Amino acid sequence: MKILVPIKRVVDFNVKVRVKPDGSGVDTANVKMSMNPFDEIAVEEAVRLKERGVATEVVAVSCGVAACQETLRTALAIGADRAILVQADGELEPLAVAKLVAAVAKKEAPQLVILGKQAIDDDANQVGQMVAALLDWPQATFASKVEVAGGKATVKREVDGGLETVELELPAVITTDLRLNEPRYATLPNIMKAKKKPLETLDPAGLGVDVSPRLSTLKVAEPPARKGGGKVADVAELVAKLRNEAKVLP
Ligand code: AMP
Repeated sequence: MKILVPIKRVVDFNVKVRVKPDGSGVDTANVKMSMNPFDEIAVEEAVRLKERGVATEVVAVSCGVAACQETLRTALAIGADRAILVQADGELEPLAVAKLVAAVAKKEAPQLVILGKQAIDDDANQVGQMVAALLDWPQATFASKVEVAGGKATVKREVDGGLETVELELPAVITTDLRLNEPRYATLPNIMKAKKKPLETLDPAGLGVDVSPRLSTLKVAEPPARKGGGKVADVAELVAKLRNEAKVLP
């Protein structure tokens, strides 16, 4: 069984994001970039399925600029077998990514596509659902436990009211939530081995996908700075403030 894991290169989660002075977007020049944290969880889950003998091959795919190769090498160091870069220079919207991933899935014929539930840069939470729709495959989003046996995946999903268990016929699409697993660190020997693993480059036109943007960004701005809090002396003062200033009490 082959597993396809789409991964995105994003601004590292430790970096304070800065908006460009002209408001045209986020400044990524000289900023540390890393694999989207939910995608690390997806790679880890695919690799664990391989280690359990359920999967035979894990293929990582990333869509974007040439530097995404670095992120793909990280996936290879965690344990993916090979990688595909769909190279595109402009900004890719979730629908374009979903079409590219669906095209790669048609070419590779995996039994499972495991993605992150969302990318921490655009927070779109769209690609997994769109991939499932484009392929007409069943989907289980926000997975916190995955079991695969007998041509079926049983997935525990984190939903608003708690946990929901669903059973999917393979091939299927799964998106990962935070509690699914704790990704391993890539060890130095594995980072060295990853350099020798195959990395293929494709282009969107070759996959028959038009990635031209369908949305235009009007302006990107920092959220307004939060005013500092204050201390109240006693409950009476708190109630008075809630009534007279916040006006949340009658
Ligand atoms: P999003 O819908 O943009 O929040 O992204 C959800 C998931 O789709 C991510 O966690 C990745 O697994 C995948 N994804 C998003 N963008 C890309 C990309 N450029 N290349 C590969 N996978 C991506």
